[in-house]
Amino acid sequence: MSIAFIDLKAQRARIADKIESRVAAVIDHCGFILGPEVKAFEAKLAAFGRASHAAGCGNGTDAILLPLMAWNIGPGDAVFCPSFTFVATAEVIALRGATPVFVDIDRETYNMCPRSLGRAIEHIKAQGELKPRAIIAVDLFGQPAHYPSLSALAEEHGLKLIADSAQGFGCTLEGHHPLHWADVTTTSFFPAKPLGCYGDGGAVLSNDEALMAKIRSLQVHGQGADKYDNINVGINSRLDTLQAAILIEKLAIFADEIEKRNVIASLYSEHLKDHVLAVPQVIDGGVSTWAQYTIEVSNRDAFSEHLRSKNIPFASYYPKPVHRQGAYKDFPVEGNGLVHTDECMTKVISLPMHAYLEPDTQDIIIDAVIAAAKA
Ligand SMILES: *Cc1c(COP(=O)(O)O)cnc(C)c1O
Repeated sequence: MSIAFIDLKAQRARIADKIESRVAAVIDHCGFILGPEVKAFEAKLAAFGRASHAAGCGNGTDAILLPLMAWNIGPGDAVFCPSFTFVATAEVIALRGATPVFVDIDRETYNMCPRSLGRAIEHIKAQGELKPRAIIAVDLFGQPAHYPSLSALAEEHGLKLIADSAQGFGCTLEGHHPLHWADVTTTSFFPAKPLGCYGDGGAVLSNDEALMAKIRSLQVHGQGADKYDNINVGINSRLDTLQAAILIEKLAIFADEIEKRNVIASLYSEHLKDHVLAVPQVIDGGVSTWAQYTIEVSNRDAFSEHLRSKNIPFASYYPKPVHRQGAYKDFPVEGNGLVHTDECMTKVISLPMHAYLEPDTQDIIIDAVIAAAKA
């Protein structure tokens, strides 16, 4: 038997008939671009995320790029983001010609540290070369960022706040979605994300009607009232009708899947907490979607070798922080370096996590992890 890191086949088996009839309907009506399923899905997604507006787009990277474009963030502007994230979070800032300013993480939650962020903003202001414009917080591994503190800093300094919820869409803090604090929430439907489709896809959610109107223009070449009068310089980034059709069925079971993932995460933590360096610490009042279940070990090489010998899949998110990658190493970092970010990189390892992990399989993984921790 082989164990899956993320079991898309088990999920598919649960809703195969429904997905097939949705897909067949699209192939039948041939409205492949912005067909009726896109609008229908956007309405359901907005309701799920407690937003007044949701716009599907091509992927989770474009979803972060679009609000930066809408706010005209570019050369001379500073945008604050963590380095312990997938590259896309910082990439869109640099792509706009703006400057990503890398901020350290909280050592327990792995999410952006509000104190490090506060220092970074003060420093950029004192230097006077770049204009602070926005913060991109990441709901890393599925758990909500420290939104009350982040939004207080955004307000104090007049900055926009984006919740990059590619991994965390569906997470809550004190019962609220990130959009309760952020100007915009973005997500990705990359297949391995908690809410994934069967290809690329993404979405932007906001309660700001004017912003969403601009984003809807930008994502279709900057179109105005008619498509041959383009009023903005835009891009082409739409959610495919086929993907929207699939997502309608995936969203219908998403809340149940988040609950299942939480049961699995609790079980992991209960059994592993005394054997490894750290099990995940969720922020007080937070509910994670568990995009990843990530532990820390002191002997990662030997640990990985042991898991590999037992055919237990694992992944290391992220082996190299963005500020240490070739294209990003010259951008500013807060303080004298990102101490927590650098420390985590050498210790984190993610275990198989999905809503369909059976108890017997999870037991096998737990036993192997306990043995590997002694390796
Ligand atoms: C996956 C991911 C993205 C990008 O999503 P794509 O759909 O692959 O473009 C952005 N930010 C974070 C934190 C991610 O994990």
